[in-house]
Amino acid sequence: MDESIIRTLQEIVGPEHVLTDPEDLLLYAYDASIHAGRPDVVVFPESTEQVSRVMALAHAHHIPVIPRGGGTNLSGGSVAPQGGIVLTLSRMTKVREIDIPNQRAVVEAGLYNLTLQEILAPYGYLYAPDPASQKVSTLGGNVAENAGGPHCLKYGVTTNHVLGLEVVLYDGRVVQLGGKAFDTPGYDLVGLLVGSEGTLGVVTAVTVRLLHVPEAIKTLLAIFDDLDGASQAVSDIIAAGIVPATLEMMDQLMMRAVEEATHAGYPTDAEAVLIIELDGLKDDMEEIADRIAQICQRNRARAVQVARTAEERDKLWAGRRGAFGATGRIKPAYLVNDGTVPRTALPQVLRQVREIGQRYGLPIGNVFHAGDGNLHPLILFDPREEGILELVERAGAEIMRICVEAGGTITGEHGIGLEKIHGMPLIASPAAIQNMRWVKEAFDPVGLLNPGKVLPQTSEGVPA
Ligand SMILES: Cc1cc2nc3c(=O)[nH]c(=O)nc-3n(C[C@H](O)[C@H](O)[C@H](O)COP(=O)(O)OP(=O)(O)OC[C@H]3O[C@@H](n4cnc5c(N)ncnc54)[C@H](O)[C@@H]3O)c2cc1C
Repeated sequence: MDESIIRTLQEIVGPEHVLTDPEDLLLYAYDASIHAGRPDVVVFPESTEQVSRVMALAHAHHIPVIPRGGGTNLSGGSVAPQGGIVLTLSRMTKVREIDIPNQRAVVEAGLYNLTLQEILAPYGYLYAPDPASQKVSTLGGNVAENAGGPHCLKYGVTTNHVLGLEVVLYDGRVVQLGGKAFDTPGYDLVGLLVGSEGTLGVVTAVTVRLLHVPEAIKTLLAIFDDLDGASQAVSDIIAAGIVPATLEMMDQLMMRAVEEATHAGYPTDAEAVLIIELDGLKDDMEEIADRIAQICQRNRARAVQVARTAEERDKLWAGRRGAFGATGRIKPAYLVNDGTVPRTALPQVLRQVREIGQRYGLPIGNVFHAGDGNLHPLILFDPREEGILELVERAGAEIMRICVEAGGTITGEHGIGLEKIHGMPLIASPAAIQNMRWVKEAFDPVGLLNPGKVLPQTSEGVPA
């Protein structure tokens, strides 16, 4: 990249906030997916004004810009296969406003999700979307991926909790979309930006909805000796009209990894467990817990345990949240699928996933948001094995396809990025993809923002 551009970037954000050394750039060539792509430069602005000036510069010189938060996405969304500027929002962490009477907060995009929860806790409030990566993923990244999390079964995903966005457009203009009100007249541009994976604008601040911390919480661990029983119980609980706050499933392979890593208290001899959390008023909680226990027992649960203390509950959740990382004890890398299927299809799809693992000779662990039908089969592998990556990608593509065939979709919360771009034609017609291209062109006419992501190229069998 031209030296004069680097100098201008240094003037905008300060020389210590611009990285150009090859070793530094290498660190920003990765996210949590199996994809890589090295940028030419990484910049760390600390204000909307600085983001705006960086975008205006990139626009003037036709340089691609890849917005980045914590780099934890699982679909290749924040890597830079075409080079360009990685624009990292990690210094933009101010809380601009906490408006308790109106149950709103306005925070900058680089704030970690968990930090926001910690700031809200003393007020007795929370922000519902709670991705398992919440310690290290940012609000901006959560918005861009429309992140979910264990509690999204009852409360909905990011889009249901974001009311306003401050966005820097491709040429540096700053716009405020939405605000504190529930509805903004005209097109729902906030809804459009949520889930747009950094391809339509750079989010610099987010207005979120706050919820009161529930009066009571009860966490159950239902233990099963067969996967079918566990997945049927998920379907039956929801069919009985019960909506727990969380309904997560973990299989034996994952429990073994988690127990080795964190000693959270999972039974490693069981085939699967459900982590079922109820929240709300104390009054009817016992009765609902009893009904859930009966449903689990009807589906051959070996036992249904209740976390007796806050510490026991925290340990179960620490194990669940750390599950992806714990697989490092089995194999050094994983490809995580993210298909969503109708809940009633869970038993059949889980059997098919197991069969794919056996056919390819690849270990596949499952830990996922079962209540949402949002599967996360983790295909574990060692990238040093010759030819393994191709095998893993083929197995991943098969899993994606069976989810679609079961009436589901290719991603529940991790985004399309680079990884699932070839799967887009499975779920969107050529006309729908063309409409998405027009939206992209309206927001980013010269194609500067996160180019090559989300939308398949016309050469991939999708007409222009
Ligand atoms: C162990 C683990 C567990 C996970 N659990 C969950 C889970 O439970 N639920 C879930 O939904 N996801 C989960 N994820 C995936 C990931 O954490 C989420 O996608 C998260 O929202 C990404 O946030 P980030 O700040 O890391 O963004 P990044 O990875 O840096 O970026 C993600 C995408 O957003 C864009 N982007 C980032 N910031 C901005 C911005 N300010 N403006 C515009 N675009 C931007 C990037 O260009 C990229 O396309 C998990 C990941 C890991 C590694």
